[in-house]
Amino acid sequence: MLCRNSSAAGAIQKLPYIMIFKTTHYCWNNCPHCCESAGANMPKKYISSAIIENYIKQAINDPKFSKDLVFTGGEIMSAYKYHNEPNYVKNLLNLALNNGCSVDIKTNAGWTLTPMRNIIFDDMVDVLSAHSISSFRLIPMQVSLSLDRFHPHAMQKNIDFITEMSRRQKNSTCVINISSFGQDTDMIDEMLGKLRKQNNDVHPISVFGGTNNNMSPAPQNDMWSVNGNIILRFSIGTLFDGGRAKNIENAYHTPMPQFSFLTPGNPPKVLMAFDSFGNVTLGENSGKKITVPWRNKDGTPRPLNNIKRDLEKQTAIEEERWIFNETNRRVAQSIKKDINTVLILFKSKKR
Ligand code: SF4
Repeated sequence: MLCRNSSAAGAIQKLPYIMIFKTTHYCWNNCPHCCESAGANMPKKYISSAIIENYIKQAINDPKFSKDLVFTGGEIMSAYKYHNEPNYVKNLLNLALNNGCSVDIKTNAGWTLTPMRNIIFDDMVDVLSAHSISSFRLIPMQVSLSLDRFHPHAMQKNIDFITEMSRRQKNSTCVINISSFGQDTDMIDEMLGKLRKQNNDVHPISVFGGTNNNMSPAPQNDMWSVNGNIILRFSIGTLFDGGRAKNIENAYHTPMPQFSFLTPGNPPKVLMAFDSFGNVTLGENSGKKITVPWRNKDGTPRPLNNIKRDLEKQTAIEEERWIFNETNRRVAQSIKKDINTVLILFKSKKR
């Protein structure tokens, strides 16, 4: 029986949603903390840009679509080597920006150490240039990199990416988000120190405009400018125990991962993640999740409205199940407490 007043299902109906495309599960790394369990043993399969375009077109006139897109993986840039669509990543970014969406592309930047670097840098710069206009150079596109102890050679790759993007760009500004974990924030200071040695002009900027002259370590809220054409942002996240991260000591246990599909912040949004295995999952990281297929048995994409309706149904079922289990747990706990009280009374009478 469905939970008629499921608040979690209601959230999917009422709140705006972000679409995330986990374009592949393949990645050349096998990081021990990977919440997607992505890696080199995963299939080199990619969601085609035609399918992604199909879903953007279906969503674009939906007032509930927040017009925020995320392109990620696995490692999305591996498409340059293994996917049969030329200009795949460039096409996706243009598709997002041409449709008036903001886009965040996540990469581990491992390709900076390979011969693919030239074509990838060229494509990124082309996209930025094509969408920049002289009076307003900042476009709604962000590149997200990781800086932590788990990603191999993250420091070297990040510095290379930032420095090279700055060198190649002529008429645009690139926003780069560096995400790290609380235990690894010293790596941010180290990276900024190294960037200052390699680049002419690296300084913090105030969120409210102007220049911040305080060159001390980067607080989370600061943004930094590199050579006037790179804006660095920082986000410090929590290491959740989804995917392979469940084997990492001190990874934070998510109590109810199936309901963590709302982005933190105000106002909240629903994260709807399409993956290369043909599923749509609520929420970005792994764990016990609410999932329905996005493709039919013949491989054709299902209508977005049907996917949303099925996600609502699944969420209501999951909430019902959670309420049932939680009620049972509390009843069992209360019975145990009562038995203990009776035993204590019995023992004290015996004495
Ligand atoms: S954490 Fe990122 S870089 Fe590491 S295996 Fe997963 S997708 Fe690849």
